[in-house]
Amino acid sequence: MAAPFRSLAEDTSRYLKSFELFLDRSSEHQCMQDFIHNTLPDILGSIGGGRPVFNVMGVGSGAGEIDLEILAQLHMKHPQVKVNNEVVEPSTDMLHKYKVLVSKTPNLDYINFTWNKMTASEFEKHWQEKNLGKKMDFIHLIQMLYYVKDPEATVSFFQSLLEKDGKLLIILVSGESGWRKLWRTYRASLGNTEIQCVTTGDIKTLDTKDIPYSKYVLQSHIDITECFTEGDEVGELLLDFLTHVVEFSKNAPEHLKKGVLDLLRHPDCSKEVDGRIMFNNNLEALVVGL
Ligand code: SAH
Repeated sequence: MAAPFRSLAEDTSRYLKSFELFLDRSSEHQCMQDFIHNTLPDILGSIGGGRPVFNVMGVGSGAGEIDLEILAQLHMKHPQVKVNNEVVEPSTDMLHKYKVLVSKTPNLDYINFTWNKMTASEFEKHWQEKNLGKKMDFIHLIQMLYYVKDPEATVSFFQSLLEKDGKLLIILVSGESGWRKLWRTYRASLGNTEIQCVTTGDIKTLDTKDIPYSKYVLQSHIDITECFTEGDEVGELLLDFLTHVVEFSKNAPEHLKKGVLDLLRHPDCSKEVDGRIMFNNNLEALVVGL
């Protein structure tokens, strides 16, 4: 029987702390930035059809760091264009951080932000009820499809909002990452049933509906060395993030703790570099649209 763990989603302040630590200890945002600076500009250059105003949407935007990077690249490609940017994000804390970041970032006058404090499915309902025929030039779903009930249906909905030359960017962990092995082995014992174990390889609807897309690998790792030092505060927070369980080290039975720790440092999930244990956090980006 699964142990009665408390999901990290229920403890907002611990979730935020462990998420920030994850960002600090991983190359998650670094690999996204490389992609945004090196690969995305050409893709952004092809959208908009010469229109003076672009409609852009970020879903599950978090604190907006990545969104603002994308918007900056879009602005470099289309300096005369004004942007309507819809943000869809259910977390009050994240939205607050995003707004603070916007207020501190210079030269964003070309963007008009609309804040939608809602989940993707609430947004879908809201959009349909308001019957907004508006079409989008660029939509991104970055590291958020784990939190929706039906990831493929969510992709189809947002894809249906695109202009003919619009693009949808999806970023998820890769099937080759350590996450996939961790979820496959321990998701049920950890009680993580509300999280979808979804990787880019699971978005099959694009192939079955013959929708054109391109795929890119974003190499990334998390330094999880501290997870193996009993009682280490950083290690415990990282373990919470990896298992999505509040105070996993304190609450897990010994055999489960040992099993998870062994898997985390197994060559299927991690490699050792200069004495540090580096968990494979490779991501993949799908860019949907012609
Ligand atoms: N895109 C950001 C944040 C990823 S974390 C980045 O890559 O840094 C996942 C985000 O999805 C969190 O901000 C979380 O609040 C949000 N989220 C959780 N459930 C969601 C849902 N059902 N619909 C939309 N966003 C959701």
